Amino acid sequence: MAKQAENKRMEEIISLSKRRGFIYQGSEIYGGLAGTWDYGPLGIALKNNIRNLWWKTFVTDREDMYGVDAAILMNQNVWKASGHVATFSDPLVECKKCKKRFRADQVENPKKCPECGGELGEARQFNMMFKTNVGPVESEESVSYLRPETAQGMFVNYKNVVDSFHPKLPFGLAQIGKAFRNEIAPRDFTFRSREFEQMEIEYFLKGDDWKKIFEYWRAEMWKWMTETLGLSKDHIHELEVPAEKLAHYSKRTIDFEYDFPFGKNELYGLAYRTDFDLKNHSKASGVTLEYLDEEAKTKFTPHCVEPTFGVDRSILAVICEAYQEDELGGEKRVFMKFKPALAPVKIAVFPLLKNKPELVKKAREVYAALKKEFGAVMFDDNGNIGKRYRRQDEIGTPYCVTVDFETIEKDNCVTVRDRDSGKQERVNIGELSNRFKKIF
Ligand code: ATP
Repeated sequence: MAKQAENKRMEEIISLSKRRGFIYQGSEIYGGLAGTWDYGPLGIALKNNIRNLWWKTFVTDREDMYGVDAAILMNQNVWKASGHVATFSDPLVECKKCKKRFRADQVENPKKCPECGGELGEARQFNMMFKTNVGPVESEESVSYLRPETAQGMFVNYKNVVDSFHPKLPFGLAQIGKAFRNEIAPRDFTFRSREFEQMEIEYFLKGDDWKKIFEYWRAEMWKWMTETLGLSKDHIHELEVPAEKLAHYSKRTIDFEYDFPFGKNELYGLAYRTDFDLKNHSKASGVTLEYLDEEAKTKFTPHCVEPTFGVDRSILAVICEAYQEDELGGEKRVFMKFKPALAPVKIAVFPLLKNKPELVKKAREVYAALKKEFGAVMFDDNGNIGKRYRRQDEIGTPYCVTVDFETIEKDNCVTVRDRDSGKQERVNIGELSNRFKKIF
């Protein structure tokens, strides 16, 4: 029963996301392309808000972080040195009867097809990198890959940043960008996509300091999830990845899992990557990637702690957390309880009636002033006020502002209506800016 309710909730979230312009299926008019998703006008607004807040929190507001934006296509030797060519694979099984393919570690019975009950063949390793060729000649030398993670773009720029900025340890490189994985079974809406985005930090340190710094980033990630994204701490769980399941580069990894409607699943990860990456790139490229401690007059290869955040999984968790149903004024409604800083539309402005030019004129003035200051402000004069409130609730607009006859005839006040409580208040137009400045 509980599972049915959660399935229904997920269906409603997917349907609202499409209907209201958050997320569409990729290439939809051609029947789609599995594992790809397109963000609509509200989806990209939400995505930008999350990315900008992340960049501000972890790069701009800090002294020890250096942002980079590396190319998606990289020299194939990067992926040989990182271990991806040899080991970035998932076990693939194929059903002998219906020919469908599955990830062997995700089927209940390794012998039985979950679709048709037929017999599953032997598992084989399937490399998840998208392979391509750079330039007109298809040869082994021209092979490249769409990057499966942003991390390597930072390791290969470690020396560049050190040479330009001479940072003191510990310091980090940060990057936001696309990553591509040819997932065997994309599923659960955007959760497992073939093209997605990551926000990653490679934080370099002296090997002895890793435990303390790991704990520091663990706390920072909690703060980001609960305070900035507004995810309930009861919906987040830490999974200490057991030694036998650790990635080849990691000595310790914590997965942060979120209670999505389709189950508890990885949202983010925090890994101690030791000096694996810099050492391997140094060996493979022949370029020294050491750190010179000028005071101690020593040279060594820094170790690295990596907090990694999926952009699309952040968006999905935020949408799932925000989706609420309640009754307001005796009527059922759906609303998105986004934190104001994340809301794609901050304020909506309405004239009470659309066929009264004096109301429309005033409402347009209020709208123009608020839009200039807060950007994401919407004007709406369609249907009655109740309907407009419902429409804004559904996309999570925190405040609606209505201009009525009293505004122009009497007190220069508008009605400000709060999304979560439905409470309405009269506020003087001259005070709107100050009031909203405190919130956004
Ligand atoms: P999973 O176990 O779910 O396949 P992973 O452990 O391989 O994920 P990482 O390699 O740690 O994931 O990637 C870092 C982050 O990138 C993840 O925490 C997640 O937020 C995001 N991510 C990874 N794969 C996908 C995907 N296929 N679709 C969307 N986001 C992804």
